[in-house]
Amino acid sequence: MRSRPFPVVIAAPSGAGKTSLARALVERDPKIVFSVSATTRPPRVHETDGVDYEFVDEAEFDRMLAANELVEWAVVHGHRYGTPARGIAAALARDETMVLDIDVQGARQIRRAFRDAVLIFIVPPSGAELVRRLRGRGTEPESERLRRLRNARAELHAAGEFDYVVVNDDFEGALAGLQAIVSAERRRYGRLLEPEAQIERIDREVADIVDRSE
Ligand code: 5GP
Repeated sequence: MRSRPFPVVIAAPSGAGKTSLARALVERDPKIVFSVSATTRPPRVHETDGVDYEFVDEAEFDRMLAANELVEWAVVHGHRYGTPARGIAAALARDETMVLDIDVQGARQIRRAFRDAVLIFIVPPSGAELVRRLRGRGTEPESERLRRLRNARAELHAAGEFDYVVVNDDFEGALAGLQAIVSAERRRYGRLLEPEAQIERIDREVADIVDRSE
């Protein structure tokens, strides 16, 4: 049965592995697309403008805010990040599920803007594993890593505001969890398009068969 598309928010403490999971979720389902955020953070070496982020300067971010082009935005680790409204609107119009890889502050704003959004929180299997992943990433200096760890503690306390929690102990298992959530949410009665008409059609077909065999 066809259902209305909805945004899926994936948030997690830094180092829980959410970006790789969000990307894999998108790659394995043509009906799921990634929301490319705007940010004032400078690009990392492997990042591409327009694919990973829309990298903008402070003036451009100010302009986007003034023009109401962002559905939510937040300061994370000292840089500004925001979700462009037109991306979400276009995805929903194309009947696509949009995945937002954003922080907890952004998740709260999306919850207010889209009552039907699904909020998923990813957690690492342990604190030691979170630290190991942050170190292994090697993209930040130690001071930045400490800042992210402090932020991670605050983010962990927000887990109760989410609809689902997925533990990222092994990648494929966590990905299967995310896919199962999206799959189940698409089947929610409240999201189905004209469910009465669809059920009615099946009922009429059954009635015809019953009538013919009486
Ligand atoms: P990073 O700089 O490591 O790519 O991202 C830092 C944090 O900012 C991550 O938690 C990421 O999910 C979050 N983030 C990325 N884009 C957005 C956005 O558009 N809005 C908000 N609120 N957070 C974002």
